[in-house]
Amino acid sequence: MKLKSFFLLSCAVLASSANGQTESDRVATKGFAMFAADDTFHPYEFTRHAVGDNDIQIDIMYAGICHSDLHAAWDEQQEQGLHATYPIVPGHEIAGRVSKVGKNVTKFKVGDFAGVGCMVNACGHCASCEADKEQFCENGTTFTYNSPDRYHDGENAMGGYSDNIVVSENFAIKIPETADMKRVAPLLCAGVTTWSPIHFSNVKKGDKVGVAGYGGLGHMAVQYLVDLGAEVTVFDRTEEKRADAARMGAVRYINVANPEELKGLNNSFDFILSTIPANYEPIMYLAMLKMGGELAIVGLPDKSILNIANMAFLSQRKVYGSLIGGIKETQEMLDYSVKHGIYPEVVIINADEKEIDKAWKNVSDGNVKFRYVNDKMIKHT
Ligand code: NDP
Ligand code: ZN
Repeated sequence: MKLKSFFLLSCAVLASSANGQTESDRVATKGFAMFAADDTFHPYEFTRHAVGDNDIQIDIMYAGICHSDLHAAWDEQQEQGLHATYPIVPGHEIAGRVSKVGKNVTKFKVGDFAGVGCMVNACGHCASCEADKEQFCENGTTFTYNSPDRYHDGENAMGGYSDNIVVSENFAIKIPETADMKRVAPLLCAGVTTWSPIHFSNVKKGDKVGVAGYGGLGHMAVQYLVDLGAEVTVFDRTEEKRADAARMGAVRYINVANPEELKGLNNSFDFILSTIPANYEPIMYLAMLKMGGELAIVGLPDKSILNIANMAFLSQRKVYGSLIGGIKETQEMLDYSVKHGIYPEVVIINADEKEIDKAWKNVSDGNVKFRYVNDKMIKHT
C-alpha cells in the first residue's frame, strides 16, 4: 500500500473510532444506480456512513423524480462546471419514516415522518449558513447525491432512489403526521425552489405574474402564486396543459410555440419565474416585465444565451437566479403547503429499474402531469 493511501486510511479509521463508529456500523442500502451518462438504471447495493450522534436514518417511502436528476446523471451540466461521478443514485425529493436516531438528536424520534431535499450537510458557521442559506455554504455544501461528502471522508453522496438515507438532523425536514405522504416528497425540491423566489420577490395579491415552463416546478409555482392572489399567466409549449392551467387558477395560458399568442405581452408583468430546462432566449421574458419587474431563473438549460446589450435597452428590469432554498425556508414551505393542502399532482410508480427508465423518458419528452414519484422504496403498508 502506498504511504499516502495508508495515511488516509489510518486517518479514516482513527476518525471512525473517535466517534465510536466502525466499518460494520455502515448502513446497508438498496437502490437504483446509473453507471454512465448513456446507461439505464440497475439495482445497486451499497453502504452509507454510520448514523452519527447528530444523525437520523430515514426509511424512504417515496422519492420524487426531478428534471435535475436527468441533467445530473446524463452529465448535462458541464458548462456549469458540474461533472457526474458514477455510480449515481439520484433522488433529492425524499419522504419517509425515521428508523434510527443518534444520541444527540432532539428534533426527531423513531417513527416520525421526515424529509430530505437537495442537501445533506454544510459547515453551519459561515456567513451563508448563518443566514440560513446552506445551499451556498462557503466551505462547501454536500448535496444529496453526485457530491463529495466533505463531512464523511469525501465519499460520493448517494440519493433517494433507495430504501434509506442517513442525514444530519439539521438537514432533515419535519413532515407533519397529517401530510399526504404520497404527494409530499416533491415539495422538498420542486416546492421550495419555486416558493423561495416567489417570496424573495415579495409577490403579493393582485400582482401580474408569469410562470414559464409548466412541469414539476412550474405547477407548484402556479399553485403558490394563485394562493397568494396573484394573476397568473402560464407559458409552455404544448396544448396538452392548457386546461390544467385554468383548472389550477391561472388566468391565461400562452403556448410559446404559437407566435400569435406572444403578441401584446411586453411591459405587463411584475414577476416572472422561469423553470425552463431547455435552451431559450430569456430576453423575451425580460421584455414582458414592467419597469422594475423581476425575472427569477431556476430552470437549468445546459446552454443559454443572455444578450447583455439587449439588457441595457431593457434597463431597470431585474434578473436573478435562485437555487433551491435553505433548510429553515424549506421547513416553512412544507408546513405552509401541508396546512393549506398545496401539493404536486403526482404519478406514482412502483420503483424498479424499468419503471424509472420509462419515467425518465417521459420526463424528458414532456409526457408527465406533473411529477413522478417512486413508491415502494421500502415496504410501508
Ligand atoms: P419538467 O420537465 O417537469 O418541466 C419543465 C417544463 O418546461 C415542461 O413542461 C417543458 O415542456 C417546459 N418547457 C421546455 N422548454 C420550454 C420552452 N422553451 N418554453 C416554455 N416551456 C418549456 O422539469 P422540472 O420542473 O422538474 O425542472 C425544471 C428545471 O428546473 C430543470 O432544468 C431543473 O433541473 C431545474 N431545477 C432547478 C432547481 C434550482 O434550485 N434552481 C431545483 C430543481 C430543478 P416539455 O416537457 O414539452 O419540454
Ligand atoms: Zn430537484
